[in-house]
Amino acid sequence: MRTVTFFSQSMLRILLLPLVFTLTCQASEPANVPAVTEKKTSNKVLNIPVMEILPINTNLLALMSQLKLTTINNQQVEIVLTQLTESKATRNAAEQYLLLIAQALLQANTNGKDADSADVIALLQRAGKLSDQISEQQLAQPDFLQLHLLLAEHYARQGEYELAYLEKKSYLKKYYIYRENKRVAMIASLEQSFEVNGKKANNALMESQNELQIRRVAEVQDEKSVQQYNFTLIISTAIVFVLLFFRQLRIRNKLIRLTRTDALTGLANRSALFEKGEQMVTSFASQPAELSVLLLDLDHFKKINDNFGHQVGDQILVTVSQLVKETMRTRDIFSRLGGEEFVALLPFADSNKAKAIAMRINDKIAQYDFSPIMLQSKVTISVGVATMKDNQMTFDDLLHGADLAMYQAKEQGRNTVVCYQDIAAVQERRANTDFVQSMPDI
Ligand code: GH3
Ligand code: MG
Ligand code: MG
Repeated sequence: MRTVTFFSQSMLRILLLPLVFTLTCQASEPANVPAVTEKKTSNKVLNIPVMEILPINTNLLALMSQLKLTTINNQQVEIVLTQLTESKATRNAAEQYLLLIAQALLQANTNGKDADSADVIALLQRAGKLSDQISEQQLAQPDFLQLHLLLAEHYARQGEYELAYLEKKSYLKKYYIYRENKRVAMIASLEQSFEVNGKKANNALMESQNELQIRRVAEVQDEKSVQQYNFTLIISTAIVFVLLFFRQLRIRNKLIRLTRTDALTGLANRSALFEKGEQMVTSFASQPAELSVLLLDLDHFKKINDNFGHQVGDQILVTVSQLVKETMRTRDIFSRLGGEEFVALLPFADSNKAKAIAMRINDKIAQYDFSPIMLQSKVTISVGVATMKDNQMTFDDLLHGADLAMYQAKEQGRNTVVCYQDIAAVQERRANTDFVQSMPDI
């Protein structure tokens, strides 16, 4: 009775175990799980001591694959197996293990249900004895695991259900190791690919950052060149403006100069003379130094014009002005009052000094040879001299005095110099007489 109970319990276990295992694997196994690499040297999950993975002959591996097929050519397989078995090459434990499994499989396939389970079991037990020399990891490979399945099957055929159960259990235990190894390998591979993807993404990010950097550098350079262009434009515009400003200034100064210059002789004109004369009179009114004025008038100039023409008259005016200018000191101002009349302002010159200068001028012109210009070789001038006598005098007064003196010179026969001071008493007397005569009789 006890034997029957044990038998039925063992059968139930054998039948249920694959079902439970299949369900577990289906729940946990992902598709296309990569195989465990042979280089792997440790099992992180199960912490199994690791032995070296033994290399397997490729023909043997091919044979094992063929044996897994549902329809196999037993004869061909047998030939290959015989070749491998009888080969003089040294076989390692793993290869011997697989060869024994292959022999057992061939025997089981050839004879089908009639196969002698004892022979198959004997072959497989021989293989099992080699387990010590093979690593747990290698033994967990599907080709190696077949040993336990075959043993379980043939033990069961012999009614050795307990042994069959134990083999099935060993198979499942090792298959679990195999699955775990595969899972670990798959995780490692996923991690690796994740790392690779991460690195790729990182690289892409760095590349895009580089591109961005390059674009920024280009933008900065563009901005710089625009700034340089703008700077150059501003500087050029500024230079043009400065040049225009100075040109305008030059033109303005030239215009001012022209408005103050006599066009024919290049001397200061009437307005410049009055401006300068008034300034000098004001400044000399407050100091003891004296200021004198010469008024020069060409004698009988009308006749020169009449006899030789206006152009010759102009040339005479220019020549006379140059001759007088040569005689002037640097501080003196020589100007054309109008027509054939000229005025010289002589600062720091008293009446005597001014008279001396006037006589020098007079002599110079009288002695000058004008024959290259006209047939008449001599030209004379009459000069009136006036000196500031008090600080009440205006420039008009001074000029009027010089004018009176010049007329006196004309009256005296021309080509001479007369000082206003010398004729002032006579002039005043004459003025008084004129005033009395002009009064009505009482
Ligand atoms: P006087 O000796 O009394 O001074 O006689 P004058 O002939 O010199 O004086 P008047 O005032 O009679 O004549 C001055 C002449 O000067 C009249 C005018 O034609 C001439 N004249 C005035 N300005 C110019 C000028 O710019 N060029 C020329 N060629 N002649 C001028
Ligand atoms: Mg005159
Ligand atoms: Mg004259």
